[in-house]
Amino acid sequence: MSDTSIKKAGFFLRCKVAIGLLFGLKFSDMKSARRMIQFRYSRYSIPVRLCKFLGWSLDQMWNEIPNSYHCVDLEGDIKDTPIWQDAENPLKGYPWTDKPDSEFPEEADVVVVGAGFGGSSIAYHWSKTEDEKTLVVLEGKEVASGAAGQNGGVLVMAGGHLHGYFVYETVIEYLEKTQPNLPEAERNTLAESFTDTYVNAMHASHEMIRETIEAEKLDVNYDRKGWVFFTDRENEHHVLASIKLAARLGHTDWEPRTAAEIKEKCGAQTDLDGAESLGSATWHPAKWVWAILGIAIKKPNINLYTQTLVDKVERDGEGYIVHTKRGKIRAKKVVNATEAHTVTLFKDFLEPFPNLILPHKEQAMHAVGGPETMKTGVGVTGPLGWFGRLPSGGIIFGSDNTPVTADQLGHTKASRILTRIRLAKICRVWGQAPIKLTHEWSGVTSDTPDKYPVVGSLDGHHLYMLGGFAGAGSACSFIAGETIMKYLLDKEDEVIHHPQEFFSPFRFTDTKLYGKTDS
Ligand SMILES: Cc1cc2nc3c(=O)[nH]c(=O)nc-3n(C[C@H](O)[C@H](O)[C@H](O)COP(=O)(O)OP(=O)(O)OC[C@H]3O[C@@H](n4cnc5c(N)ncnc54)[C@H](O)[C@@H]3O)c2cc1C
Repeated sequence: MSDTSIKKAGFFLRCKVAIGLLFGLKFSDMKSARRMIQFRYSRYSIPVRLCKFLGWSLDQMWNEIPNSYHCVDLEGDIKDTPIWQDAENPLKGYPWTDKPDSEFPEEADVVVVGAGFGGSSIAYHWSKTEDEKTLVVLEGKEVASGAAGQNGGVLVMAGGHLHGYFVYETVIEYLEKTQPNLPEAERNTLAESFTDTYVNAMHASHEMIRETIEAEKLDVNYDRKGWVFFTDRENEHHVLASIKLAARLGHTDWEPRTAAEIKEKCGAQTDLDGAESLGSATWHPAKWVWAILGIAIKKPNINLYTQTLVDKVERDGEGYIVHTKRGKIRAKKVVNATEAHTVTLFKDFLEPFPNLILPHKEQAMHAVGGPETMKTGVGVTGPLGWFGRLPSGGIIFGSDNTPVTADQLGHTKASRILTRIRLAKICRVWGQAPIKLTHEWSGVTSDTPDKYPVVGSLDGHHLYMLGGFAGAGSACSFIAGETIMKYLLDKEDEVIHHPQEFFSPFRFTDTKLYGKTDS
């Protein structure tokens, strides 16, 4: 990319910025840097990785960040809550706000713990059946207060990035560790089967979301303008491989794009070619969750209790006891839809697979102003982050992926240095224009050991789970909710998109069965 249009910082500003950044570094920034080195430079030896990272850091401190200084405004009140939470939550404090004396149930056929994408999807699908059994959703804070109300608002068609290739690579990596003797060809075939199943489930889920938005006339800012992906020289080979893989598997959603086409589509200036997911969309994720759960609880057999933290879930004969501060509920079946919080709340059930859920911090920011070349409604993933302009005119952007421990859940903080790097990237890729930060927040996503979701029974009995959605839970959670609903109604023979050989948590307990298909 040509540098001619960039206004460059003078020597003294460069020195001031570099010194300020060095003295402002925190331990959490170091952890993010370590993660970035592992991810970005994975194909090099450790000394080469360190040299490359050093070169990259110097470029950030001496060029990119100082050059963006005159455009970027970080003064004034910057909220640490997600931009999505600026909208009014119609289910805030439900039912306590309107009915403080509401009775808390002692029994239920099904208890769903967590009201994010996953929990609300189950309730919605349950409301569409003729079944009269009772379903209770318990939410520790507010509906969509977890990752569902903190994310980037991109309904990607497959994978957090790199389309299905993300899954293909992570499954191969997992197999290299767990089954080193498996011939390479078998590893590749297995990884392709996982990719194919995942991408098809994701596409079906997105289609179901689109139809639901239309049928229910939901006002969730849904805008299907595609999602553009481009990278830099370090990761260019991944993009090319992902395009080849999609073509081989017949996935028509992931198309190659030249640098000129990328500029035309999303305004970004890049020297490198990339790809586009044609069917991806953007939306207001929290409004979606509020809307579908709002529809579900109109049915008399479905109830929601917010501000009701679950302390413990234990097996009790054929059923379960769900302990909360408001009392305990005896349930025949339970669903864990708490994503990262699985590691604390369902710890006792994780004995067979202690690393099933691996929480990672993500961060996101919202700014006003910025380059006009950035187009509304097109999701963009570029080097070191994702970006998009909202219908309101603001810019949402972010990334991170630093591992966090169980005791950090709910206490993660956004890193200002990561914000600075992404703001500098906007100025560099879309052009320099005044841009003011308004919101800066962090949230947690969850990986599994193969970075592939889990949708199925957690204890081989009636405790189910949907999660491990990594950075792509918005699309796949909806159909995963339908799958869990079928399990709850003993209709597992009707499950199409989440075959257990691919999605069950038990795929990690016996690696010989991993991904085994009937054929
Ligand atoms: C910054 C960021 C950006 C992201 N960007 C995207 C994106 O652009 N596109 C995309 O598809 N995905 C994105 N993701 C990932 C996506 O948000 C998640 O995959 C998704 O939200 C997971 O949904 P969930 O319902 O499983 O979990 P959550 O939405 O986290 O819901 C879990 C719920 O459980 C509740 N809970 C937890 N413990 C308890 C308890 N003990 N008792 C009662 N309730 C409890 C929580 O309060 C929470 O409401 C992003 C995530 C983050 C953090």
